This record gives sequence, C-alpha cells and structure tokens, in this order.
Amino acid sequence: MKVRFAPSPTGYLHIGGARTALFNWMYARSQKGMFVLRIEDTDLERSKKEYLDEIVDSMKWLGLSWDEFYLQSERFDIYRQHAQKLLDEGKAYKDGEAVILKIPAREIKLYDLIRGEIVFDSETIKDQVLMKSDGSPTYSFACVVDDALMEITHVIRGEDHISNTPKQMMIYEALGFKAPKFAHLPLIMDAEGGRMSKRTGAVAVTEYRNLGFVADGIVNYLMLLGWSPGPNQEIVSLEKAVQNFSIKKVNKAAAVFSMDKLLWVNSQHIKNMSLDRLTDSLIPLLRQKNFIGESFDRPALEKVVALFKGRLSTLNDFIDWADFVFLEQLVIRQEDKQKYLSQNRKKEFETLAQEFEKLTEFTPQSAESAFRDVVARLSISSSDLVHPVRVALTGKSVGPGLFETMSLLGKERTIKRLQETFS
Ligand code: GLU
Repeated sequence: MKVRFAPSPTGYLHIGGARTALFNWMYARSQKGMFVLRIEDTDLERSKKEYLDEIVDSMKWLGLSWDEFYLQSERFDIYRQHAQKLLDEGKAYKDGEAVILKIPAREIKLYDLIRGEIVFDSETIKDQVLMKSDGSPTYSFACVVDDALMEITHVIRGEDHISNTPKQMMIYEALGFKAPKFAHLPLIMDAEGGRMSKRTGAVAVTEYRNLGFVADGIVNYLMLLGWSPGPNQEIVSLEKAVQNFSIKKVNKAAAVFSMDKLLWVNSQHIKNMSLDRLTDSLIPLLRQKNFIGESFDRPALEKVVALFKGRLSTLNDFIDWADFVFLEQLVIRQEDKQKYLSQNRKKEFETLAQEFEKLTEFTPQSAESAFRDVVARLSISSSDLVHPVRVALTGKSVGPGLFETMSLLGKERTIKRLQETFS
C-alpha cells in the first residue's frame, strides 16, 4: 500500500494538515507501506518557497519521514500529455486554451473507509476544467494524474475535500485508471465549535514549536484528534501508536481542539524525557535568552532542569520558572512585593544570612536546619518567613522546594539576595 500527504505551499503547515500527514504516515508504517510527500504547487502565484521550506522542516521536526518526494510544478508536461489523451479520445473538449472534461449525468457512489457509503448525484457535478487557459492543471486533475501514476492505494485527507472526491472519481474513470480507496478525516473544531483559526489560538506547527511544545507531545495530541490508541491510553509514543493504528477506527465526528489537553499531553512527554534529552532541548532556548553562554557547567544545569522537570507544560515554561537561577538581577513583580515583602523582615533576613554564612556545606538539609534554628530563636512561625524568602530569592511566590532552590542558587547568591532585599 502507498499513501501520500499533499500539502499546497500557500501557507504554513497547520494543525489540521499535520494531523492528516500523521494519519497517513501512521497508516503507511502500520501496513509496512510507502509514504509520499507531494507538494501541490501548481498555483504558481500563491505557492511560496518559504512555505515549502517550512512544511518540509515541520514534517522533519515531527518525525514524519517520507519515502518519495515530488513537486507538481516539475510535472506540468505529464498533466498536459494526459489532458491531450482525453482530448484525442473525445472525452474532453477545449474552450479557448482550457481543457474541459465532459461529465455524463449519473449517480456516483463512494465507499469511504471512515464514513461508509456516500452517494453523489452527478446532476450537481458540472463539466470539469482539467487544464486552465494559462497551461496549468487544476488541483483535481493534477491530483488524480499523480495519485494514479504514483500508485497511491489510499487517499486519506480532510473531510473538507469530500465534495472533490466524486469529481476526481470521474477523472479516474475517464483516464482509465483504477480509483484508490478514500478515507476522509473528521474536521478539527475549536472549543466554540467553529473551524480552527488564528483567532482562537496558534494554528501553524511552527508556532507551537516556538511556544516550547515538543514534537512527541504535538504528535501524540494530534493522534487523539479523531483516534484513540486504546482504552485509558492517551500518552503513547509514535512507535506504539503505529502498532495499534487502524484507519477504520477513526471517528466520524468532528474532533475538538483543546489547548489545555495539548498542554497536559505535552507536559507528560516532557516528564518522560530523560534528563539528558530535556537538557539538550533547553540549551538553545537558554542561549537565546542569554541565560547561558557557549560554555557552561552542564552538571549544574542538569540539577536545575531536574528540579523543574515535573512542572513544565512546555519548554518555555522552564524559562519562566527558572529565570532566577540565571539572572544576576532579580525582577520581583510589584504584586508579589506588596503581598510578601511589604513587612520589613530586615532582622530576620540578616539573622538567616548570618546562619547561612556559618555553613561549610550548603545543602538542602543544612539550609533547612539553619532556617529552623532561626525561626525558633526569633520565635516566629516558619510560614511567616517561607514566602518572603522565596520571593526574595526567586522573584516568585510559588516554586519547587525552598531549600532545594536555595542549594541550587548556592550559598553566596542566597546570602546576597537576602541581604539586598531590605537594604
Ligand atoms: N493540496 C490539497 C490540499 O492541500 C491536497 C488535497 C488532497 O489531499 O487531495 O488541501
């Protein structure tokens, strides 16, 4: 078997397109078949190199490798030859420079692998333009010629193409080609039941990548849009999904896109990453932010990553959570300042700094016992001090364990930040 993903490079690869690509890819790999990437760039005006590069890049990033690659813009001769054949056989006629296929009136039956039997009334299908007067093929004609010549056995694409299918079936018939099997995937709706659009959030794969989503997370979430890897099984790898994938089990009903669910799926994949891989993924981000330079202390960085790993929904969350480790000058939000640092804790902070100064080893345990001593000596409750200290050290009112955080910052910086707060 052989399938294809056939994007038009007139825009970026968006979530819907990526889901189509993924389902084709999973089907091919599950059946030990072939996966073709065919760029439908017959519209020379609207097709852009920039989009083509982005589509190829996003496919690679998602891990959807292909066995064959074609550009329709390099195949115009082939379309012309096939149009000529139909003219010679009297199945098509010319109108000016355009070539048009005669469509006989009759009923057309499609057996869709997901939606079952669909009957179209060809009364509604008019004669079809195959070649436009500017010499370029129409989408449907190029699509059929290519699907036939590339020996595509299954056409899996979005439901928005369902109305093109009977027209394309007529073209197959006219050319004397056997039509492939068709499967139309359910649409992806936004939470309000509308079509996914920029208005309701990011749509391009690149945008999600820039927001710090990981490829495994995106891929896992996309497969849930219309398919289920199994009961109580939502977090799966691509390899695992391929083992269970079946096109017949794809839902007919529209899938609803949920950002919250995507964030959750992504967080699970970040949690499952090895510390080494997660650190590798974060390094470019940290460099971009100037949080680390060309050379840096990798074991120290891995400690920071380990502390935050369980809290990240995206890679970018790490920047927001852990910035205080890398920044020389802390930025404390006005709101937190007012809430946690409005009461003068100079004496408490100084006592704490003095106790820390005495420690030869600055570990979570030694920092904690020094902290408890100070609280007892000053007869205050530890909760009086925990929040102000956290805000003073990290600029945030929430975070991982305070004493782990201190030991991560190191003795010197912890003391310095305590001393500077009320100075
Ligand atoms: N180029 C078409 C699109 O991007 C492909 C449709 C198809 O898969 O046949 O929508």
